[in-house]
Amino acid sequence: MVDGYPWWNERHKELAVEAKEFADENIHRGEEVFWTKKFPEDLLKTVAEKGWFGVLIPEQYGGMNVGATGSCIVTEELSRICSALANVYCVTFFSGTKQLLNFGNEEQRKRWLPKIAKGTVAGVCITEPYIGSDAAAIETTAERDGDFYIINGKKRFTTNVGIADMYLVYAKTSEKTEDKARYKHLSAFIVEKGSPGFTIERVNELTGWYGLPNGYLDFENVKVPVENMIGNEGDGWKIMMAGLNFERTLFTAGMLGPMREALRYAVGHAERRIQFGQPTINAEVNQFKIADMIAGYETSRLLVYYAAYLTDLGMDNVLYATMAKLYTSETYEKVLSTAIQVMGGDGWTKFYPLDSFMRDAKVNQIGAGTSEVMRMILFRQGLRTLKEDLKFPARRVHETLKVPVSTPKPKKVREINEHSLLELFAENYIVNPGLCMSREDIKARVEEFDDQKLDETLQTLETQGLVKIYRDRKGRISLARATIEGLRKAKPREAYRWFPDWISKEYIF
Ligand SMILES: Cc1cc2nc3c(=O)[nH]c(=O)nc-3n(C[C@H](O)[C@H](O)[C@H](O)COP(=O)(O)OP(=O)(O)OC[C@H]3O[C@@H](n4cnc5c(N)ncnc54)[C@H](O)[C@@H]3O)c2cc1C
Repeated sequence: MVDGYPWWNERHKELAVEAKEFADENIHRGEEVFWTKKFPEDLLKTVAEKGWFGVLIPEQYGGMNVGATGSCIVTEELSRICSALANVYCVTFFSGTKQLLNFGNEEQRKRWLPKIAKGTVAGVCITEPYIGSDAAAIETTAERDGDFYIINGKKRFTTNVGIADMYLVYAKTSEKTEDKARYKHLSAFIVEKGSPGFTIERVNELTGWYGLPNGYLDFENVKVPVENMIGNEGDGWKIMMAGLNFERTLFTAGMLGPMREALRYAVGHAERRIQFGQPTINAEVNQFKIADMIAGYETSRLLVYYAAYLTDLGMDNVLYATMAKLYTSETYEKVLSTAIQVMGGDGWTKFYPLDSFMRDAKVNQIGAGTSEVMRMILFRQGLRTLKEDLKFPARRVHETLKVPVSTPKPKKVREINEHSLLELFAENYIVNPGLCMSREDIKARVEEFDDQKLDETLQTLETQGLVKIYRDRKGRISLARATIEGLRKAKPREAYRWFPDWISKEYIF
C-alpha cells in the first residue's frame, strides 16, 4: 500500500510507489517460485540494480539512507511477491549492515557497506544445533591467535546459506564466569564465504519459504582476521540484542505483504462468487471476517512502521518491535486462515497463492525469537516501561460509604514504630484483604521513612509472631503483613466487621 504515515518523508513516499509498481509487475514470479522452488535470482539482481540494498546505508558508502522505514517499505512490497525474495533482502540488513552502522569502525564500514549497497547478500548466525532461544549459551568458540581469531563450532537455521557472501557470526570469546554473568563472553565477527574451513553442512527442506536456502554451517579452525570483529571483544551480546530489535521490526514487515495479498484475494473472490443467488461478499458473516482481516492487517502495519520510526529517531523501540513481531505473526496466521475460509475450497487449492503464504505462518512465530520469548520480553520490558502507570493505588475506607476505595492522598503515620506498623497492616487488611504490603506501599504511608528502621521494626514484630515477612532472592525484605495475632493486637474485632445493607440482621453473629 503506497499510502504512507504522516511521519514519512517524500523519499519514503516515492520509494513506496516504486516498490509497489515493482511488486505489481512481478507478482506472478512468486507463484512460479512456489511451483519450481527456484529462487528468483534475476529479481534479486533487479532489486540490487535499483539501489534498494542501500536503503539503510548512508550516501557516502553508496546507499540511499532512507532508514528502517525505507527498509520496511521495500521488504513489505517484496513480501507480496514471495517470502524468499523478501527474506534474502531484509535478512541482509540485520546480518551485518545495521551492526556495522551502529558498532563498526570507519575502516569496516568502508570495506563492507558499499558492497552491500550493490547487492551483496548476508546471513546471521546465532542459532546452533544445541542452542536456540537461550542465545547467551552459544557454544561456538573464537580463540585469539595473534592477529586472528580461530572459530570452531556449528550454526544452524541460517537463512541465506550459500546465497550470502558474508555472515555475521556470534561466538564465545570468554569462559570466565564473571564475563558470562555480565554478558561479556560473546563477540561478533564477519566471516566471508570462501574462508578455509567454513562450509555448508546441510540445507533444510522447510515447510514454507519456498526457494530460500536455510541450513547448517560448519566452522573448523576458521581463521578470521581481528579486523573482522565488530565492536570490541565481549560486545557480542550487546550487538546481538540491538540487532534483534531491528531484526524483529524488519522481519515483521515481511509479513505485511502476504496479509495484504490474502485480503485482496478474499475480497475479489467473494465479490465474484455467487451462492444462494448473490455474491458471497453479501453474506454478513463474510463481511465481518473481512472486517477483522482489515483490522488485523492495519494494526500490524501501524505497529511495524511505528517501531521503524522509533529506530529512525534513534529511540528505544524494544517494546514496539517486540509487540509488532508477536502481534503480527499471530495475526498473520488468523488473516491467512480467514481468507482461505472466505474463499471456500478454492482458497485451499494451490492454484491461488494463499496456500503458499499460509505455509509461512508458523515460522513467523518461531524465527527472530519465538512468540513465547516475545511474551517474556514484553512482560519484563512492559513492566519497566509502564512502571509509573502501574503503581498499585493507595486505598482507604470511604468516610460515608464505609467501603474500600482508592485514594490519591493516603493518610500517613509520622514515623515507623511497632504500633504504627501494626496499624498500617491492619488498615491494609481492611482495604486489601489477603494482600501483603510492599516496601513502597509502606513508604507511601510514612512521613519520616527510614529503610533501616523499617527492617528492624519488622524483624522485632516477626519475633513476637505479630508480622510475617517475605524476602526477595537477595534476602532483602520485600513484602510483609500482619499475622492474625498481629491484626487482633492492632484493632478490636469490631473494626474489621462490615456487612451490606441487604443482609438480614438475623444472619449476623
Ligand atoms: C526458517 C527459519 C529461519 C531461521 N533463520 C535464522 C537465521 O537466519 N539465523 C539464526 O541465527 N537463527 C535462525 N533461525 C532460528 C530461530 O531464531 C530459532 O528457531 C528460534 O530462536 C527458536 O529456537 P529453537 O528453534 O531452537 O527452539 P527452542 O529454543 O528449542 O524452543 C522450543 C520451544 O520451547 C519454547 N521455550 C524455550 N525456552 C523457553 C522458556 N524459557 N520459556 C518458555 N518457552 C520456552 C520456545 O518458545 C519454543 O516454543 C531460524 C529458524 C527458522 C525455523
